[in-house]
Amino acid sequence: MESRNARAMVLARAEALCRRQGLPLTVQRRAVLEALVARRDHPTADRLYEDVARRLPGVSRATVYRALEAMVQAGVVRKVWYAGAAARFELPERRHHHLICVVCDKVVDLYEPALDRLPGPRSRAAGFRLLDYSVQFMGICPQCARRGRNPVSQSSRRVSDEGK
Ligand SMILES: [Zn+2]
Ligand SMILES: [Zn+2]
Repeated sequence: MESRNARAMVLARAEALCRRQGLPLTVQRRAVLEALVARRDHPTADRLYEDVARRLPGVSRATVYRALEAMVQAGVVRKVWYAGAAARFELPERRHHHLICVVCDKVVDLYEPALDRLPGPRSRAAGFRLLDYSVQFMGICPQCARRGRNPVSQSSRRVSDEGK
């Protein structure tokens, strides 16, 4: 767990970046940043909305989504993509990669310096101008593994019903 100080610094950096990018730090944007700093689990936009709504009662979902999208466009917030699930968001801090649980959609940060030095593709990359990359490892998290959950079994079926 991070200290309060570390969080305050992350927040201050994000706010400074916001201003540098010419985005006024509105109450809504600030609330989104605070919500992102408070939780480190790469929340979805819906999740963030719930957090922001607790801080700013009456705020609309559309307002929160707009604030989030504007900050993604400005590079203040990073969208973590992966196929087949809702986009997840985080503050772009130290370079890292992700471990993704295919059962419960958990996203965990992975700091692995060797992955930061991958050579670019040798082929032409189909005309793409490459800007950045990150590596996502798909797998089953310890909690899901312990519960015997896996992506091919039906989630409604309980493991404890088997055997015995
Ligand atoms: Zn899991
Ligand atoms: Zn991350």
